[in-house]
Amino acid sequence: MNDQHLLRYSRQIMLPEVDIAGQQRLMDARVLIIGMGGLGSPVALYLAAAGVGALVISDFDEVDHSNLQRQIAHGEEDVGRLKVDSAREAIHAINPECQVITIPEKLTSDQLMQQVILNDLVIDCSDRFSTRFEINRYCVEMQTPLVSGAAIQFGGQLAVFDSRKPDSPCYRCLYEEGEDEELRCAENGVIAPLVGVIGSMQALEAVKILSGAGETAIGRLMAFDGLNSQWRSMKLSKDPECPVCSGK
Ligand SMILES: [Zn+2]
Repeated sequence: MNDQHLLRYSRQIMLPEVDIAGQQRLMDARVLIIGMGGLGSPVALYLAAAGVGALVISDFDEVDHSNLQRQIAHGEEDVGRLKVDSAREAIHAINPECQVITIPEKLTSDQLMQQVILNDLVIDCSDRFSTRFEINRYCVEMQTPLVSGAAIQFGGQLAVFDSRKPDSPCYRCLYEEGEDEELRCAENGVIAPLVGVIGSMQALEAVKILSGAGETAIGRLMAFDGLNSQWRSMKLSKDPECPVCSGK
């Protein structure tokens, strides 16, 4: 770590829970972020600002005018560009030292598994249940921690799963696969700052996992009701019958 790093990250390094060792762990980390929309934007920008060394960002979509209301990594001039290209520029405008690897296509199962192996942490910012279940399967298999977030209308939720811990539940313990109720922003609407709240919480949990600071939200579902300004935290248990994580 050089003098520039000590200055740039001084407000984190002065936190005893982080210190130089924790900051160095952040700088050595490589994180996979799936989705560069409403959640992925604040996650990527905050992780880059906090000093995470490398971000792998995956999204096959292009920026549309209707995205600009909440997807803050993209601007007016980015409409029509790939979201990963626009996000890379936004990341580098904040922190040019952050290495950014872009994946501008829909990941095949093999590619997804490879990426889960290559990264220290996965952050699910996707908006499809089928993708979420697949990400979860590989994270359990490869014992890679997963920070999962979702936001729709005025409500959001967040959960951290860490298969390195034997009693950690997984995403599949929580939700039944195959239920075809895809609640997506495109059809249901979402209030702009909500994705900032949930995405910033995902980034905070990621920074804690990577730096080693504090206790992460493993085994809890944190649900936010933005219309009534209330957080609820529910304990999650590992499902002994879970087809993905039972026996692991
Ligand atoms: Zn499970």
